[in-house]
Amino acid sequence: MSNKRSSFDLAPRKIPFHQPSIDERDIDAVTEVLRSGWITSGPRTREFEREFAEHVGASHAVAVNSCTAALHLALAGEDLGPGDEVITTPYTFIATVEAICYLGARPVLVDIEPVTRNIDPSAIEERITERTKAIVPVHIAGLPCDMDPILEIAERHGLAVIEDAAHSLPASYKGRSIGSIGKATCFSFYATKNLTTAEGGMVTTSNPELAERYRRMSLHGIDKSGWKRYEFGGSWFYDVQEMGYKYNLTDMAAAIGLTQLEKLDQFDRRRCEIADRYARRLHGIEGLELPHTLPDRHHAWHLYIIGVTGRCGSSRDELIQRLSEQGVATSVHFIPVHYHSYYGRQLGYRRGEFPHAESAFQRAVSLPLYPAMADEDVDYVADAVRRILRA
Ligand SMILES: *Cc1c(COP(=O)(O)O)cnc(C)c1O
Repeated sequence: MSNKRSSFDLAPRKIPFHQPSIDERDIDAVTEVLRSGWITSGPRTREFEREFAEHVGASHAVAVNSCTAALHLALAGEDLGPGDEVITTPYTFIATVEAICYLGARPVLVDIEPVTRNIDPSAIEERITERTKAIVPVHIAGLPCDMDPILEIAERHGLAVIEDAAHSLPASYKGRSIGSIGKATCFSFYATKNLTTAEGGMVTTSNPELAERYRRMSLHGIDKSGWKRYEFGGSWFYDVQEMGYKYNLTDMAAAIGLTQLEKLDQFDRRRCEIADRYARRLHGIEGLELPHTLPDRHHAWHLYIIGVTGRCGSSRDELIQRLSEQGVATSVHFIPVHYHSYYGRQLGYRRGEFPHAESAFQRAVSLPLYPAMADEDVDYVADAVRRILRA
């Protein structure tokens, strides 16, 4: 690792894996909150929730301090507990399964479709038992899952569909915006995500009672007037109606979210342009798999994951090393859930049980993709990949 870092540091040109798009408007929005006298959840947070809900076509949005928290609340809203099962994918960031485990429920993994890297809807039904309560599809890299069959299976078996949309803002499936489809949809505003508040998240739903419950559980289970108790004329009294958590978003973070939201369409256009540019520059390299989108979906292009197969001139790990020497930082998405020592032990899955997820991981290299990248950076990365794989 140290070796890798020094070669990157010595490279003539450096392209980081990610750079957040923060400008003076975001910075001013934060200092305005800091000067206002109200710094935690308050008016900016409520405004961010309203604007965000409108943006993704949801009736309700509840702001929280991470997507992990959003997933936890959405699953808690289904009253999951020990003995319950939740179907999800092994090819995801660990937060997806962690949130299921928080409630004592058991994550049941279903392999992915090799082409989209999303959960394979045709493999879900055989994993449903009388203990199954929910399905958590993850829209990997920003490409929406095939939602129609997933919704149909869920409906038939009375299961909740809770989407992990950490990568998919803005995205859509058959004209429906991600955020308006499942019973609940969870977004991430972590530093590297398509919209950032440094740390933050949102859960959307069309169900008003659920939204109220998420809001209550995000603040210790205190009834909805809870956060207002510090306002002038507010009452000191509050009641804890159920067990909750401490997941509320600060107004400083929400202020960044609001200014970021104004730029989301622009960010999205730039991400799509970069993905198109990569696709053109990387086309036709022997053995190299390029990510693609589908005509009935809008891809949010959070990640650009290429697949290095045995027919390429170099291995996946050689490509990562050589790119690093040339100043291009990359990443690998995702180490399958059951490859992590804790979850391998805890869930009892063996290596080899999810061949598509495992092979996707072994081939995967994520190339830099963020709005601040210049066309020349994209060309530099793509040309370096082509040179290395041809050699
Ligand atoms: C980033 C990420 C999360 C967690 O988001 P946080 O806001 O950091 O909690 C969950 N799921 C996936 C697929 C992610 O990539």
